[in-house]
This record gives sequence, C-alpha cells and structure tokens, in this order.
Amino acid sequence: MLLADRVALITGGAGLNGLGFATARALASQGARVVIVDLESARPAEAAAQLGRGHLGLTANVTVKSDADAAVAHTVEQFGRLDILVNNAGITQPRKTVEITEGDYDAVLDVSLRGTLLFSQAAIPVMQRQRGGSIVCISSVSAQRGGGILGGPHYSAAKAGVLGLARAMARELGPDGIRVNAITPGLISTDINKDKLSAERKAEIAETIPLARLGVPADVAGAILFLASDLSGYCTGITLDVNGGMLIH
Ligand code: NAD
Repeated sequence: MLLADRVALITGGAGLNGLGFATARALASQGARVVIVDLESARPAEAAAQLGRGHLGLTANVTVKSDADAAVAHTVEQFGRLDILVNNAGITQPRKTVEITEGDYDAVLDVSLRGTLLFSQAAIPVMQRQRGGSIVCISSVSAQRGGGILGGPHYSAAKAGVLGLARAMARELGPDGIRVNAITPGLISTDINKDKLSAERKAEIAETIPLARLGVPADVAGAILFLASDLSGYCTGITLDVNGGMLIH
C-alpha cells in the first residue's frame, strides 16, 4: 500500500465521472482515508460512501475561505492529520476574449485559482506541524497551449495562474518537507466537456494526439497517485503532462 495511514482531501471530488472521484478511488485503493469536498449539489457524502467505509464527504465551496478552513478543520478532527491535498475543483466556459464578462472572469478564476490558494492556505499549517505533505494542483494543457479545445482565455489564464502558484508554493514550502506539484491534463472525457464537444470534434482531436485517444479519468488519477505518494519524494515544483503526447515539442 503506497498510502497506508495517509489522509487525503480532494476538492471537486464528488462527480462520479470526474478526475476527482477517480483520484479518490485510486488513493483509497492504496490505503488512504479520503475526504471528498464538493458543492452540496454534487452530493459529496454520497460519493464518499461509494468508496467504502472510513472515508468522508464534506460540503464546501472552494471560493469561500471559511468553507476551506472548516473542511480542513473537520478533516483533522475526524482523522487527526492531513497528508495530501488535491486542488482539483474547476469550471470552464467556452468564450472568445471580448465575450468574457466580469462575472465569467470571477467565476472561472475564483474556482481554479482562489480555490487552490484558499485550500492550500488551510492545509499548509497542518502539514507544517506534521513536517511534511503533498499538494497536487490540477492545471490544464490549456495553460500551456493557450486553450484551443474548450475553455476560453480566462480558463487558460486561471490554469496558468495555478502553475505559477504551485511552483511558488513549492519553493517556499520545500524546507518544511511539503511538496507541491502540478498536473496538466489534456482532453479527458468527463462531465466538464460531455455535452460541449461533438463526437466528430473529439475524433478530430484524437487524430492529433500521438496516443490516438482522449484521456480517461484513471489516466490522471494514476499521475496524482504518483505525486501524492513517496514514489515522487524528490519531485517538487514539477508540471506533469498527462495528455497522450498532445504537447510534444
Ligand atoms: P468535473 O466537472 O467532473 O469536476 C469538477 C468538480 O468541481 C465537480 O465535482 C464540481 O461540482 C466541482 N466544483 C465546481 N465548482 C466548485 C466550487 N466552487 N467548490 C467546490 N467544488 C466545485 O470535471 P473534471 O474534468 O473532472 O475536472 C476536474 C479538474 O480537471 C478541473 O480543475 C478541470 O479544470 C481540470 N481539467 C479537466 C480536463 C478535462 O479534459 N476533463 C482537462 C484539463 C484540466
């Protein structure tokens, strides 16, 4: 078991077809006790129950500081520690630059970027007391290639912000034994893109990918498991591409 006695919190983890829930399953299968955090409408307690006994589902909006603080406090109260934080919650919107309203900007930036900051701020003091931890931040290939698949420029900007934040936190927190890494998924079939890309468009995109297929949530979950576990003990500040080779250059 790679994660025996470890406690992991995953934001945006309740969507049963999403990266977060696939990650919850992967970490639980390696012995971690998992806390799934999500909006009430996503039913995090029900998702956590699907992992089996000994896991927890909590309602929180990642854009609200008191929610982040309460979720981490509840985790520590229940399990006594927090070893792994996966900043996964995110939303996207297809928009052209001039169409982005201030409300769109706030919505997209707040979930990915503010949410990553707030949950990291809540988790870091706990990890510092434990003298170690692993934070995994979910960015996107959109940050690297400037969108072009689904999300608008504000989504690319939010995810590029996540990369900068993850690297800066890695630099700052290394001396405390806290590793911070980012994952840049390519196009992964989940609810975020289900009704937004036609089958033809997906087939066109698959033709441009060296591995000749779209990703599945388990592809990303495996990479997150690596970064969460001691297998990646000397990796911090890295950006791990999980995109089928979409960005070889
Ligand atoms: P998803 O829609 O299944 O998962 C996103 C989850 O975030 C949902 O469970 C949702 O309820 C939750 N969420 C949204 N707003 C929230 C908030 N304010 N507070 C708490 N939870 C909130 O989509 P997914 O594809 O699994 O996305 C997971 C992450 O991966 C996102 O950050 C997304 O941007 C990123 N990503 C996805 C892809 C892809 O192709 N699917 C590619 C690159 C990056």
